[in-house]
Amino acid sequence: MQVSSTVFASRIQRFRLPRVCVAVVGEDATNIIDRAESLVRDNPFMEFRLDYLTNPAAGLPKLKHFLDLHPEATVIATCRRVVNGGKFKGSASAQLDILTKAAATGFQLVDIELQSAEILKPAELTELKDRVGVILSFHDFKATKKLEETFAEMKRYPADFYKIVSTATSLYDNVQMMKFLQAHSAQHEMVGLCMGEQGIISRVLGVRAGSVFTFAAATRGEETAPGQVTASELRDTYRIEMVDAATQVYGVAGDPVSHSMSPIMMNAAFRRETVNAVFLALHAKTMKDLMACVPDIPIRGLSVTMPYKQDIVAALTNSDALTKQVGACNTAVRGQDGKLYGFNTDVAGVVVPLEQRMTLQGAKILVVGAGGVARAAAFGLKNKGAEVFIVNRTSEKGQALAKATKAKYLKRADLAKMSFDVIVNATPLGMGSNRQSPLEEKELNTKFLFDLVYVPAETELVKMARAKNIQVIPGLEMFVQQGARQFEIWSGKPAPIAEMSFVVTKALERLEPQPAAEKAPVPKAQPRPVEKPAPKPPARPVVKAAAKKPAKLAARKPAKKAVKKPVKR
Ligand code: NAP
Repeated sequence: MQVSSTVFASRIQRFRLPRVCVAVVGEDATNIIDRAESLVRDNPFMEFRLDYLTNPAAGLPKLKHFLDLHPEATVIATCRRVVNGGKFKGSASAQLDILTKAAATGFQLVDIELQSAEILKPAELTELKDRVGVILSFHDFKATKKLEETFAEMKRYPADFYKIVSTATSLYDNVQMMKFLQAHSAQHEMVGLCMGEQGIISRVLGVRAGSVFTFAAATRGEETAPGQVTASELRDTYRIEMVDAATQVYGVAGDPVSHSMSPIMMNAAFRRETVNAVFLALHAKTMKDLMACVPDIPIRGLSVTMPYKQDIVAALTNSDALTKQVGACNTAVRGQDGKLYGFNTDVAGVVVPLEQRMTLQGAKILVVGAGGVARAAAFGLKNKGAEVFIVNRTSEKGQALAKATKAKYLKRADLAKMSFDVIVNATPLGMGSNRQSPLEEKELNTKFLFDLVYVPAETELVKMARAKNIQVIPGLEMFVQQGARQFEIWSGKPAPIAEMSFVVTKALERLEPQPAAEKAPVPKAQPRPVEKPAPKPPARPVVKAAAKKPAKLAARKPAKKAVKKPVKR
């Protein structure tokens, strides 16, 4: 029996669809059903990849059983052909046949590519659309380009949803996609996103720009494309169901940035303080790419990480005294005048955890390293009246920092006969899989060790310190404190420090189970140390009372680079 299209229309209205569709793959129909059964409660919107089945048509009766049992689920049937990046080896006619059978099986939506539509007779496509909701899709596995031309071609065919999935090779490709979605989502039901690690932000911001929904992996490890995030990340970390045109966008910008814990921490803070904002990882391979995105997304605030902490200073209209003194900025605010104002909260990240434990005036503190963080530490501690010593692998760099901060440079050979109140490790030694220590046991003569490395929590240096009964200040405290100040600068609200510390601690535990050693204290919100007054941006962005207008997206030429190898969404 042919069902009237109005029946399906009522089932696929955009406001009834969840924003996240989870792709389900399996070698056979039983696999798909088992997976779907475990997912359907949290994910009532799914896509079954029939092309992964050896014989898709033969699997349909089993899938029908699932659809009959779960009328609450909305399921897309996709049987993508090999030539279009899928696994189905049949012709466009054979694909149509399977999708028609899928419609009769009870799937509410089917996905068919533009390339197949071009092969089929117009009447065949119309007939399919009469039976089931049709998503007409186009995938570009190499680049984000010619979106308008492609869409002009797609509009020649009848469909309920037009889906364009491209590949981001720059951060700005996400902006191209968002501009495209904004231009058409009022007239058509659009779905759009960029694949690739650099396309992650389009998976969150696409819905803000008008994509009816987006795609996600069921769990980590089940990604079907680079850059795909899990459905729970989209919902719990990025609160995608709440993202709308008024949602302010913040992000951590760097290269690389995928490992950053900032999105977990800052989104938790925004959620806790009910700020309508989302915080993303902005993987910018160049400053130019980053700066092009800032006004066009638009970005309200940036957490700046390596390698851009120094480079961004030139892009700032004004900055606080610490940024000027240190020569590096890790926090930017975009004022209502569109200009960027810089702050350095790395200094507070080092100083606050120490001030919570001691008086810094007159304290003897050794900073190991002379890079960016050592610089922030040395200036910050000197400002507080500490007696600062510096040791560094490259003595010239250490001496230069000592001179700039009026600290004392020490030769490594002299360390063993000296003792300190605090030793701060500002080198990467001990980080990740690196099991080295910047100091030997005989050189570790101090009351406190502040190891700024925080992944893993138990570095070789920390283990050595614990064995000598030295009090350890975990690097996590710096991370939380610098983030807390960022949150306060952006939102004007006190940072929920305990919550921020909790979510990062849990995330780190998930990365690598920590030994049951001395736990990092969950710091309580403290009054901020008094520092030189920072310049105020002309008008601080009021995050909650966000602009009602959709994100402004200015015109720009498409990126030309195309590097990623074909992948499946
Ligand atoms: P950076 O600018 O690259 O500086 C690294 C410093 O470590 C330099 O002084 C370098 O000495 C020294 N170094 C590097 N490899 C070494 C080795 N094998 N042996 C001895 N010294 C070595 O890095 P950064 O931005 O200052 O960051 C340093 C570390 O701080 C990061 O790796 C990270 O673990 C940590 N950090 C923590 C937080 C936090 O929130 N907790 C935030 C940022 C950074 P040379 O001058 O001789 O090259």
